Amino acid sequence: MELRKDPITRSWVITGDDVPDNAPRLEPFCRFCPDSRESPQLIASMSGTPGASWSARAVVHPNALYHIEGEPTRRGDGIYDKMRPIGAHEVLVENSVHDRHLWKASDLEIEQFLLLAAQRIQDLKGDGRFKYVSMFKDHGNSAGQEFEHPTSQMTATTFVPRRVLYELRAAREYFESKERCVFCDIISQEMKQDLRVIELRGDFIAVCPYAPRVPYESWILPRTHEAAFGRFGLNRPGTMRDLGALLRRTLQRIRTITEEFHLVLHTSPNSLHRSGNLGYWKTIDEDYHWHIEIMPVLAAKAKSYTFKEVYYSPLSSETAVKRLRDAKIEP
Ligand SMILES: [Zn+2]
Ligand SMILES: [Zn+2]
Ligand SMILES: [Zn+2]
Repeated sequence: MELRKDPITRSWVITGDDVPDNAPRLEPFCRFCPDSRESPQLIASMSGTPGASWSARAVVHPNALYHIEGEPTRRGDGIYDKMRPIGAHEVLVENSVHDRHLWKASDLEIEQFLLLAAQRIQDLKGDGRFKYVSMFKDHGNSAGQEFEHPTSQMTATTFVPRRVLYELRAAREYFESKERCVFCDIISQEMKQDLRVIELRGDFIAVCPYAPRVPYESWILPRTHEAAFGRFGLNRPGTMRDLGALLRRTLQRIRTITEEFHLVLHTSPNSLHRSGNLGYWKTIDEDYHWHIEIMPVLAAKAKSYTFKEVYYSPLSSETAVKRLRDAKIEP
C-alpha cells in the first residue's frame, strides 16, 4: 500500500494491490467482546459503567491500513508525489456489550465513548508526524460496516483528508472577509429560522444542512465556538453527556428512515504540525468549528442520488427535518 497525491485536486488516496481484506468475516467468535479468545492489542480503556469491567476502549485495528512505525518519506515520481502509509489505525469499541449500539446505549456509556475519542485524538495529535486525526463509523452492509460489535474507527494520517481540507479553506476564506466563523453563523441563522433544526440539547444542536448531499443528512455541532473536538472534550467533559444523548436521539430518528449510515467527526488538524505553505493554521482556532456529520444510506435508490459530480438529494432538508422531528424515539 502507498499514498498517492492527485496533482489536480491535491487529495491523497491510499492505493495498492496488497489491500488488507476488510470484508466482514464469519468468525465463530467476536474479537471485541470482553471474553474474546483473540483480543486485539489494547491501547486505552475507559472504566466505569455499572456491571462492566470497561465501558469503551481503543485497540489496534486487526487489518490496519496505516502503520505507526517509520517516516512517511515523501518522494517524487515524475510530476507525482507519493509517500508511505504511516499513521495510526484504531478501532474504538463503543461498548462492551455485543449488540448495544450507540442508539441503544445509556447516556453514561456514550459519554465514556466520546471521552475516549477525545483522549485518543489528543494523544495522537502529540505525534508531530500526524497532520490529522479522523473518527468515523460505517454502519450497515452498504455503508461498508466491518465488524458486528459496536465500533467506530480512528485514523491518524500524515495528510488532511480532502473534504476536511475543503472545509478548512472555505472557513478561512469566510473568516477573512467577515471575521466570523461560518459555522457559528450557520447555527445562529438556523436557530433564528427554525426550518431545519432537529433538536437542541444543552450546548449542542442537530440540524439538517441547507444543501444536503443525501436525504436526511444531519449534522451535530456545539453552539459554543470550538475548533478542536479533542480539546473541547477534555476541557469540558461535563458536556459530553448532552452530546451523547443528542447523538443517540439523532441516530434513533435516522433509524426510523434507514438502518445504514456513515458518521464522521470533522475537527481541526494537528496544530503541532506547522506547515509553511498552508496559511490556515494561523486563524484556525477562530475560523473552524468541529462537528459530526451523519450521512444516511437509503438502500432503494442509493445510487441514483449522486450522479458522479453533483450531489442530488430528492428530498429537501425542510421536509426531512419534519420527519426526523416527528419520529417516535425513546426519551
Ligand atoms: Zn462482540
Ligand atoms: Zn464557530
Ligand atoms: Zn464537515
